[in-house]
Amino acid sequence: MKMINISLLGSTGSIGKQTLEIVEDNDDINVVALSAGYNIDLLEQQVRKFKPQIVSISTEELAKDLKARLADVDVKVTYGMDGLCECATADNAQIVVTAVVGMMGIRPTVEAIKAKKDIALANKETLVTAGHIIMNLAKEYGVKILPVDSEHSAIFQSMNGENRSQVNKILLTASGGPFRGKTKEYLENVTLEQALNHPNWSMGRKITIDSATMVNKGLEVMEAGWLFDIDLDKIEVYVHPQSIVHSAVEYADGAVIAQLGTPDMKLPIQYALYYPDRRPINSKKLNLFEIGSLTFEKPDTNVFTGLAMAYKAGSIGGSMPTVFNAANEKAVALFLDGKIRFMDITAIISECMSKHDVIKTPDLDDILNCEQWTYDIIDKEILTSIR
Ligand code: NDP
Repeated sequence: MKMINISLLGSTGSIGKQTLEIVEDNDDINVVALSAGYNIDLLEQQVRKFKPQIVSISTEELAKDLKARLADVDVKVTYGMDGLCECATADNAQIVVTAVVGMMGIRPTVEAIKAKKDIALANKETLVTAGHIIMNLAKEYGVKILPVDSEHSAIFQSMNGENRSQVNKILLTASGGPFRGKTKEYLENVTLEQALNHPNWSMGRKITIDSATMVNKGLEVMEAGWLFDIDLDKIEVYVHPQSIVHSAVEYADGAVIAQLGTPDMKLPIQYALYYPDRRPINSKKLNLFEIGSLTFEKPDTNVFTGLAMAYKAGSIGGSMPTVFNAANEKAVALFLDGKIRFMDITAIISECMSKHDVIKTPDLDDILNCEQWTYDIIDKEILTSIR
């Protein structure tokens, strides 16, 4: 049996855990590296079960603890950004699943590509901020970037065997999140609990808030732009509350090809791991009789301004998407901490974008400096006016 060796970054998160469920259900996937942030208990269990050769955790202190706990196991314990990069480049790994959250995914993704690993990419923030670097490197090193995001996997599947130069546009679907159809006034007073209550998908906390603001869809527009080398004005967002059509592609002759399925991340994760093969999955199959009808609406960008700002950031390009993304990452963390209100998230993004002098072709250092600039400006100038 031919084995697939994977390195999994973010193994304790929502995508990470579902990836390991797929590993459990199949005999031919072997885990060579695991990495996590702070959930040491779960990481210890995962190491005992999946027996990677290397494991990484966020801090030196946690690494000491983990090493002591795993004294009876033959595994190398590392930590921090260096540890993440070591996992991303682990010997024998063929595919790196990038399921960490946020811009911390950039460096390990770059290192993995340079080590000629294919990337199963969940970590969209990496492509949004460093798409020009990642896609060029992937070409240079001859590695595949396989989308894990369900919409991008659907687009990828809808392009199978087609001539990409004959694509007219991408129809990117969105559930609309928990606040679909609500007014700005309503959103002024929503709570964290309401924002975390996604109608269709069970995901990590950051992406769940991003879905409630529709910033997630904005990030996905930029992600699709890089993955499929298409202008953003050819990517149209359709609010589709049933989350059955995961996205579609329109071709020159008007044909629209879509991928449908139940809202379950296991399919896109598994498709990326076995591409181009399809394997059975232990999950509920789509029953269109049960669903009955599929509906589509235009997104309300006057209420969900984050989506409109994402198009703007993406079309300005250069370092602006980094500022959009970093402002969102910081604002969402503040909202999750109870420090700001829901509508402050998009207000903070807007302020940061308006204060930024764009760098046209940022390198990796420029991107990380812009991230820090954004965090600093929020702390020093923007938060003081909000509080
Ligand atoms: P989660 O928050 O559930 O998981 C994030 C992972 O990153 C966890 O394993 C976490 O570890 C780890 N992590 C956090 N901080 C650090 C750190 N300092 N160093 C190393 N690792 C760290 O996120 P999701 O799984 O929901 O999302 C992951 C990515 O996939 C995101 O970019 C998201 O946008 C994307 N995505 C997610 C989807 C979903 O359905 N969840 C769908 C499509 C895309 P720990 O928990 O141990 O702290």
